[in-house]
Amino acid sequence: MEIYLDANATTPVLPAAQQAALAAMADGFGNPSSIHGSGLKARFLVDQVRASARRVLGAPSGQLFFTSGATEGIHTSVLSALSELRRRRDAGECAAQALLYGATEHKAVPQALHHWNAMLGLDLPVLAIPVDGNGRHDLAWLRAQAPKAGLVCTMAANNETGVISDLDGIADALRGSAALWLVDGVQALGKLSLQLIERRIDYAPFSGHKFYAPKGIGLLYVRAGAPFTPLLTGGGQEAGWRGGTENIAGIAALGAVLSAWEAGDLFQPPAALAAHRAQLVQALRESFPGLVLNCGDAPCLPTTLNFAVRGVGSRLLLDLFDAAEVRVSGGSACSAAKAEPSYVLQAMGLPEWQNQAAVRLSFGALDGPEFIAAACARLRRCGQVLRARGLSSEAPAQAYAPPLVTRMQHGSACCYLLADGDSGECIVVDPVAELVEPITRWLHGRHLALRAVLCTEEAPAVDAAAWRLREATGLCRAGTGAADAWSADADRPVLAGHELIVLPGLPRGRQAWGLRQDAKLRYVLAGDLPQSAAPTRMPWLDHWAAHGAVSGTLLLPRADGAGLFAARLGDAGSASTCMGDDNAVALDGAAAKALLAQGAGLWVDVREAYERDVQVPGRGIAASQSVPLSGLLSALPQWLEQEVHTPVVFYCRSGNRSAQAARALRRLGHASAWSLAGGLALWSAPAVDCSPESVA
Ligand code: PLP
Repeated sequence: MEIYLDANATTPVLPAAQQAALAAMADGFGNPSSIHGSGLKARFLVDQVRASARRVLGAPSGQLFFTSGATEGIHTSVLSALSELRRRRDAGECAAQALLYGATEHKAVPQALHHWNAMLGLDLPVLAIPVDGNGRHDLAWLRAQAPKAGLVCTMAANNETGVISDLDGIADALRGSAALWLVDGVQALGKLSLQLIERRIDYAPFSGHKFYAPKGIGLLYVRAGAPFTPLLTGGGQEAGWRGGTENIAGIAALGAVLSAWEAGDLFQPPAALAAHRAQLVQALRESFPGLVLNCGDAPCLPTTLNFAVRGVGSRLLLDLFDAAEVRVSGGSACSAAKAEPSYVLQAMGLPEWQNQAAVRLSFGALDGPEFIAAACARLRRCGQVLRARGLSSEAPAQAYAPPLVTRMQHGSACCYLLADGDSGECIVVDPVAELVEPITRWLHGRHLALRAVLCTEEAPAVDAAAWRLREATGLCRAGTGAADAWSADADRPVLAGHELIVLPGLPRGRQAWGLRQDAKLRYVLAGDLPQSAAPTRMPWLDHWAAHGAVSGTLLLPRADGAGLFAARLGDAGSASTCMGDDNAVALDGAAAKALLAQGAGLWVDVREAYERDVQVPGRGIAASQSVPLSGLLSALPQWLEQEVHTPVVFYCRSGNRSAQAARALRRLGHASAWSLAGGLALWSAPAVDCSPESVA
């Protein structure tokens, strides 16, 4: 069963709402503006749903009309308010000097402010109201700015953290000010009473898809007497407040949700929601040592939990949870695809690590006790796997054998971990400061001792990171300045059958190391490689020929922003180091199934081991090999030596990592490297076994 814990991004559509939408399309398809029977039926439905919304929102007066969603409602409100501010300015009335919005507001709000401020030629300063460490507005600041504010925008509850705004405090700070007030009610709908009338809120947009209705339907409340300018004019629908034929199916669906909410028997009462939150917090704390909540002591929506686990990045947790079919998001859903730090947590001044590791879990008011119990069990399973794989702060009981070469990346900077599971030793090449903690944890989790830290370049920042790693792992004591236990001249470490040697020939201040096996140089950790799509001669390669450099030796770069992974040494001592064309590596589902049915191809799962461990049994594809992307370099030579006509099909969760692996292999000369398009997320075929032979 999928455990959907991303209700703040969107909710599923209530079955009664689905039926209502279908019924509206089948029988109630009339145009509410028509005066015949079909039109009248549709009009009746629209009026009924509006009446229900007025009751649920506590808005007996003022305008309440249907929109496409909250973004439209926000734009309509901002356009209305700013048009009024321009009118006041042009009439010589007391002119506003600033537009204010909460620093943690949904991006639609500042975007709309900037847009209409410029479009209407107001050019007022747009200022963010600071928030404290709990995410609550600085009311003293707001009180001081209120006299000169033209419009103030403050959300009722935050979509990332669930923090509830002090609307009474804000109303108080605005008392006596001529400012108009917009309250984004999206995350509060069905959970908090906004007291729209009592608080004299001017505009309040709402969204159906956060409240079990489909996407494309929303509501905007406008206080009686508040200035209004329509965003859409047209056929005079919604009494001229919003042109365009009404979305009857959406309105019918929203109506079904509002009726269910009013009936009160489907939605969980507040006490149950609070108990569910407490259960989830307990399960998370037990499963992930070092977990902190990102909302401090502020009052929060009971349905939202934003947390971070020290030393475990949000990307890792999201991959782990998704593999376990637990759907959560990192930061906000809109920014999740971009892997940017959350501006909400930044505005709250949370430490960098808490922001980098932030995960948002949000459940719905329809989720009952059995669902929450199942969610807790699944989270506990994720925690167990993380501990077993040595990725939590606890050392695992069993140490899994590491691949020979593991690559960790921060931005474009690549760091290589050369490991020997048998001797329990590891050598790290080119660490960067941000990777010191993950490397330390990685070594700890695999019961590996750090033997040496090597750098391909002499630079203060590189040196500092190397010393931090030595200190963090106990390779040397802080401040002693003692060198590594390994000295390149005296000692020749052997790592998993590969001899590590220092290679000559590079300019001063640069170094290169080679991993040699059977007298052949298999890998060269070469530092910066020249960026060129055309094969480039690298004069220093001649020096290395004496050390076993051959056609096919893999050159590993220190920086790899393009996803090159490795360059392959050509016959004439040259290598091309640009990605060139983005090779068409995508294999669609039908082609993939055809290959599987023939029993053809080498199927390589490039997800990390912990993702495979938590996978719901019986799902996905049973791989021929499992090689996480971080360990890809260890397996590349083996695939390159194979029959090039054997298709190698990489797959992962979404098709992103597998595409990187397939492109890297294609570039290095394998003509039949593929990536399963859309990854396991789109894979619907029954599990097929391809004689497992797990590598990682
Ligand atoms: N405001 C808040 C607080 C939200 O969470 C969202 C959606 O994420 C929006 C506005 C935008 O809503 P819609 O998707 O209906 O345009």
